[in-house]
Amino acid sequence: MAQVRLNHVYKRFGDVTAVKDFHLEIQDKEFLVLVGPSGCGKSTTLRMIAGLEEISEGELYIGDRLVNDVPPKDRDIAMVFQSYALYPHMNVYQNMAFGLKLRKFKKEEIDKRVREAARILDIEHLLDRKPKALSGGQRQRVALGRAIVREPQVFLMDEPLSNLDAKLRVQMRTEISKLHQRLETTVIYVTHDQTEAMTMGDRIVVMKDGVIQQAATPSEIYSNPANMFVAGFIGSPAMNFIDGTLFEEAGDVYFRSQGLQVKVPQGKAKLLREKGYVGKEVVFGIRPENIHDEPLFVESSPDSTFRAKVEVAENMGAEMYLYLSGIADKWVTARVNPRMNFTPGVEVELAFDMNKMHIFDKDTEQTVL
Ligand code: ATP
Repeated sequence: MAQVRLNHVYKRFGDVTAVKDFHLEIQDKEFLVLVGPSGCGKSTTLRMIAGLEEISEGELYIGDRLVNDVPPKDRDIAMVFQSYALYPHMNVYQNMAFGLKLRKFKKEEIDKRVREAARILDIEHLLDRKPKALSGGQRQRVALGRAIVREPQVFLMDEPLSNLDAKLRVQMRTEISKLHQRLETTVIYVTHDQTEAMTMGDRIVVMKDGVIQQAATPSEIYSNPANMFVAGFIGSPAMNFIDGTLFEEAGDVYFRSQGLQVKVPQGKAKLLREKGYVGKEVVFGIRPENIHDEPLFVESSPDSTFRAKVEVAENMGAEMYLYLSGIADKWVTARVNPRMNFTPGVEVELAFDMNKMHIFDKDTEQTVL
């Protein structure tokens, strides 16, 4: 069993606390993604698991074994980095065999493992080539191969795709996911790319300033973000945040901001009353995909319509991003079906899908609902 358990783990570099109270159990065979902006502590966390960084406080278990003081080579893990650093003078076979040779594996066993990994990664025909004669994607596959031959309990990957071009990145994403299913091992994967996190992770840990903001499945993080940071970080284009006030009139709860007044659905209104938010200033959140321009939707949602001016219309082919002015004092983004008449300057009528709205506490930025 290869679950990885971090028990209230801290990492301090002098005055800087890079990781604070990281507390999480990663399940056997799970694909866990650590995601967050630059400097949030995700690499440091991974390096502590790898044994490349000492743990300042807390415990780290791999399986049932406390490994705080176990050297990297004895942790039964393999790490794949962003810079895959293949040995230039060795061919692919030798690159993949090198780690096993160092560990004094028998020649036949090394051969068996290298050929099996090459088959899984579809690089059998490249075994005699030197790294300089490989494409970026092929090199990345060799780097993965080097990790696979070790047959580790846990794979650690630190932005392994960030040196590849966009198209190859998408392709390798799928390949790594397939590889994970096939090898049935635990993977801990670091990225700053929220799309990578959403598409690859069984579970995502969103970090900021060394602190876990939320650890949950991609759909849970998308639908029920824990706070404004997670809500804004996951999803593209990002969620719209509108400052305003909740108030009650004739038994209904409304959200009001400059240029906007929308009715909160009954169930949500009840919760907001119970939590004491009616009459208060709040932040209203709505994802661009939950703003609609289809006439049928708009006509049937009289309590959540608004008018706005199209400032910029970006046609992405299958969809269109509208950047709208007229609400509060910043642009609101809507993701709609492409139409020709969205020229800049035109006035449009749209409606929110209020069942998908979010409310955040203005001071703490935590999710209210
Ligand atoms: P990136 O995506 O840019 O790699 P990250 O989320 O992986 O960022 P870390 O590399 O873990 O972030 O760094 C977390 C914090 O710890 C940063 O503030 C960084 O400056 C600091 N840090 C990392 N390594 C050291 C070190 N060896 N000495 C001092 N501070 C460090």
